[in-house]
Amino acid sequence: MMPDVHAHYTDPAFDADRDSALAEALESCSYIINAGWDVPSSAAALALAAEHDNVYAAVGIHPQYHGSSDDIAAMAGKAAAIGETGLDYRRTDMEERQRQRDMFERHIEIAKEYNLPIVIHCVDAWGDMLGILRHYRPRCVLHGFSGSAETAREAAGLGAYISFGGRATYPAAKKAHRAIAAVPRDRLLLETDAPYSPPVPYSGRCGGNMLAATAEFAAGIIGITAAQLEDIVSANASALFEINI
Ligand SMILES: [Zn+2]
Repeated sequence: MMPDVHAHYTDPAFDADRDSALAEALESCSYIINAGWDVPSSAAALALAAEHDNVYAAVGIHPQYHGSSDDIAAMAGKAAAIGETGLDYRRTDMEERQRQRDMFERHIEIAKEYNLPIVIHCVDAWGDMLGILRHYRPRCVLHGFSGSAETAREAAGLGAYISFGGRATYPAAKKAHRAIAAVPRDRLLLETDAPYSPPVPYSGRCGGNMLAATAEFAAGIIGITAAQLEDIVSANASALFEINI
């Protein structure tokens, strides 16, 4: 078994069966990093983590959402990570990009203050992202990685872990396939991003039982067995989150 380092079980997609969906996921995943995307969902992630063994909360504000970073700081003491946070420059103007950078840097400061890793969302903002990583050198994971092989190598060189989800298994996702091959093995992680992004051959709501399909696919690209890859990502996640299960 390996951990799912990024999921959203507080999403409304799980409102009807959250407890059973989590129980099912934990039959396939050693533990789950369950991420908030704004203040209410971060508070809900903390509550869920308190109710369930092997479920850990990340608290943060996603770049496309709004809220007070002071509220995130107030929750950090009970969280396993800060996030998800980051930069998403799709359909943004300069003012919005600056707002996102300010919010992201505030999250990095909170993470440093509480000695927590950061769960980062980054879309179409790689130049600024690498600049910020170079400046702060945070303990972090770039979740749902969508960048190039070169960006993956550069970010890993700055100490970031690189996590791939179900989208990386799509036949057309050649860029993701090259990025998987490029990431140093000691920086590689896998995730479901549940309820989003089911891997091939699944469709519909994504859950922890689907993580093995992503592992199988990534192992094929790297040229190792799925069992070997599970050991590698388990060790990497333990190092990042300081969780040993
Ligand atoms: Zn997410």
